[in-house]
Amino acid sequence: MADDDDLLWSSSTDRGSEVRLFDRNRHIMYLQMNYEILPSGYEGQEINRLTLAYFIISGLHILHALDHVDKEAVINWVLSLQAHPKNEAELNNGQFYGFHGSRSSQFHSLDKEVSVPNNSHLASTYCALAILKTVGYDLSLINSTSILKSMKCLQQSDGSFMPIHTGAEKDLRFVYCAAVISSLLDDWSGMDKEKAKNYILSCQSYDGGFGLIPGQESHGGATYCAVASLRLMGFIEDNLISQSTSSCIIDLPLLLDWCLQRQALDGGFQGRPNKTSDTCYAFWIGGVLRILGANQFIDEKTLREFLLTCQSKYGGFSKFPGQFPDLYHSYYGFTAFSMLQETDLNSLSVELGISMF
Ligand SMILES: [Zn+2]
Repeated sequence: MADDDDLLWSSSTDRGSEVRLFDRNRHIMYLQMNYEILPSGYEGQEINRLTLAYFIISGLHILHALDHVDKEAVINWVLSLQAHPKNEAELNNGQFYGFHGSRSSQFHSLDKEVSVPNNSHLASTYCALAILKTVGYDLSLINSTSILKSMKCLQQSDGSFMPIHTGAEKDLRFVYCAAVISSLLDDWSGMDKEKAKNYILSCQSYDGGFGLIPGQESHGGATYCAVASLRLMGFIEDNLISQSTSSCIIDLPLLLDWCLQRQALDGGFQGRPNKTSDTCYAFWIGGVLRILGANQFIDEKTLREFLLTCQSKYGGFSKFPGQFPDLYHSYYGFTAFSMLQETDLNSLSVELGISMF
């Protein structure tokens, strides 16, 4: 009788090549192992703990394995990372009151007289709300007033967002975070959508893709942030390519062309021209094509084959074929397989970056 390895890596001897399958059970084990490490060890590299937790918990949800998670413990942990202003006056001090990336960024000065920035971050806040939504927490219970009121201060006059209140870069990534936060909280009072839209449109490059800031080279991640934000804000509809392009606010034919050209000969997607195929762009660019209703133009067979060369035999996915897996590329590998309609995977809200089912 064949053992597990034979089933998972069944080789077709006549052609001498192995036929790989999506290894759901091993992916669950990989995430479970990472989940068990997460609650302990608040030392060392824990600054982006919420982001890692987002990859693990949302990943388990996509894999239909959320029963491996202690939802109550996750909810309490995430809620403990929310930053709260002491009073109304503090809420208006220009700082952002969202979620901390981890416990260590909550440490304050022992000197009570010294005002210490709370360091909560738009990306951490996106991850916190995404996790809470994933484990079924009722987001209307969140004190969203302080989040949204202080988030408004992060929007710049050109419509872009900074992720924290001072000294940070501003670009499309944080416009996207603000759009997801508003969408999940079902309240758009924390951003000027019209200004954000104009900023996004100013980032579309001559070649059809989007750069992170106006004038910058087109990039897969930036293109996703642009298109997903426009979709979340209601400025574009699903299945855009089935509608008349003359009224569309973006240059759709050029965008479509740029995205489709990112599928390389090996079947994978590259983030920019002349770059190596990388697992995560199957989501960033595959997701854009999905939102536009153009996923039928993807060569799904070769994409699947490429992704499986990045699947680790220990579970998880690596960036490039044959390397060790990491949580980031594993997560986007799972999302890619969900979009490829792999059996036993939950489907995805592509624009939110989480499974909603
Ligand atoms: Zn990558």
